Amino acid sequence: MPQEHPSPISRTRSAQLFEQAKAVFPGGVSSPVRAFKSVNGPPLFIVKGDGCRITDADGNTFVDFCGSWGPLILGHNHPVVREAILEAVHNGTSFGAPSLPELELGELIVRNNRFVEKIRFVSSGTEAVMSAIRLARGVTGKSKIIKFEGCYHGHVDSLMVKAGSGLATFGVGTSAGIPEAFARETLVLPLNDDALVQETLERHSHEIAAIIIEPIPANNGLLLQHAAFLEALRRLADQYQALLIFDEVISGFRVGIEGAAGYFNIRPDIVTYGKIIGGGMPVGAYGASKELMGHVAPDGPVYQAGTLSGNPVAMAAGLAALKQLLQPGFYEALEEKTNRFTGAIETHCREQGYPVRFPHIGSIFWVSFSESSIRSAEEIDPKRMDDFKALHQTLLNRQIYLGPSGYEVGFVSAAHTEADLEWAARAFCGALDEVFMVD
Ligand SMILES: *Cc1c(COP(=O)(O)O)cnc(C)c1O
Repeated sequence: MPQEHPSPISRTRSAQLFEQAKAVFPGGVSSPVRAFKSVNGPPLFIVKGDGCRITDADGNTFVDFCGSWGPLILGHNHPVVREAILEAVHNGTSFGAPSLPELELGELIVRNNRFVEKIRFVSSGTEAVMSAIRLARGVTGKSKIIKFEGCYHGHVDSLMVKAGSGLATFGVGTSAGIPEAFARETLVLPLNDDALVQETLERHSHEIAAIIIEPIPANNGLLLQHAAFLEALRRLADQYQALLIFDEVISGFRVGIEGAAGYFNIRPDIVTYGKIIGGGMPVGAYGASKELMGHVAPDGPVYQAGTLSGNPVAMAAGLAALKQLLQPGFYEALEEKTNRFTGAIETHCREQGYPVRFPHIGSIFWVSFSESSIRSAEEIDPKRMDDFKALHQTLLNRQIYLGPSGYEVGFVSAAHTEADLEWAARAFCGALDEVFMVD
C-alpha cells in the first residue's frame, strides 16, 4: 500500500530570510552547501536544536540526521555540554594564553588514543589539514601530496584538486583562484586501487611528502574502503619514505575514541581532527608522535599559530563532549541503533525492489541510489541525484532533515532514541514509496 502523501511544509519565513541573506552573503550563506542548490526550495533557517530535533523559522520541527555535518554526536544542545560552555563563559571567552580546559582536553585525548602522543589545537578542520600538510612537507623536505578522488580535506588550496582524464594525473584546481603551480603539487588517484598508488610512488617517490586519505571517505557518499587498501597505504608510505596522513575530521571520535585508525588498527603518521572534537564549537586539531610534533613551532621549524587556538570555551565544550563518549558502551550502543535503523529501511527497499541501499559504519550512513557496493567516486551515477532531490523534499514534508545533497552522509546521534529511529525508519520507507511509485 503506498503511503499517503503529506502536504508540503510551509517555508514562507525561511524564504523571506533567505532573500534578505542573499543581499549580504554570497549565495545567502556562510558555506556553499547550505544554500540547498542541489535540492528543492529555499534553505531552512534553524532557530533551535534540542536532542535529535531542530526547529525552523516557520515553526516546523524535524528529526535531524545532519547533526551540523557531524559534530553533534550527542545531539543538539546536550545539557552537559551546554553547562560546561556556560561555566567557561563566566570566566571570560578568550585569553590568548595557555588555559586549563585546553590542557585537560589535550591530556584526555593523548591518554585515550594510541595514535596521538602530542596534539596541537586549531580552529577548524581545514586548518588542521593545512597544518598537517605543512608538517609533512617540513619533516620530509619533499613537497608533493597524493590524495584520492572523492576525499574532501577542507578548502586547502593544494587539496582542492581533482584528477583530469587520465588515472594518475596531476591535479587541476576544482575552484577558481588556485594557482596551477599549487595544484601541480597534488597527485590525485582513485580510491581502492593500491597498485596505482605503488606505481605513482615508484615514479615520484623522491618528491612525495605524504599520502592523505579520509580512512572512512564520507564527503562524496560513503565510500567504504577495504582494510587491505588502507594497510597497503601504510606499507607503501613506509617503503617510499612518505608520511601517511589520516584525515579524521569526520571519522575521529565518530567510530570510536581512536577514530578510524583504531577501528582498522592502522597507525597514521599524522592524524587530523575537527567536528566532534569541539563539542559543537569551532575546533580542529592535528596530532602525531612526539618525534614528529617536535618539528612544530616553537619546538621546531614548522610554523603554525592561531589567535583563538585552544579557545577556553570551545575546549570546555570539547572536553565535556569527549567525556560522554568515553563512557563504556557508548559507541557499541550507537552503532547498534544505526544498524537497526538502516537495516529496517534496507529491508523495505529489498522487498519493494527499490534500487537503494544504506551503506553505514559506526553511526554514519549514506543513502546510495545503487544496489552495488560503491567504493570509488566515479562509480556514483550523478543522474540518480534527481531521486535524492525528490527524496529530500518528501522527507522534509515528513519531518526528517537530511543534509541537502545526495553526496552527503547522515549521522545518528546518541540523542536519537529507539522510538525516534523507528518513527524515522517508517517515514523514510513512506518517502521512498512516494519517490519510486510516482510513475
Ligand atoms: C569537514 C571536513 C574538513 C573541513 O573541516 P572544516 O571544519 O569544515 O574546515 C576536512 N576534512 C574532512 C574529512 C572533513 O569532513
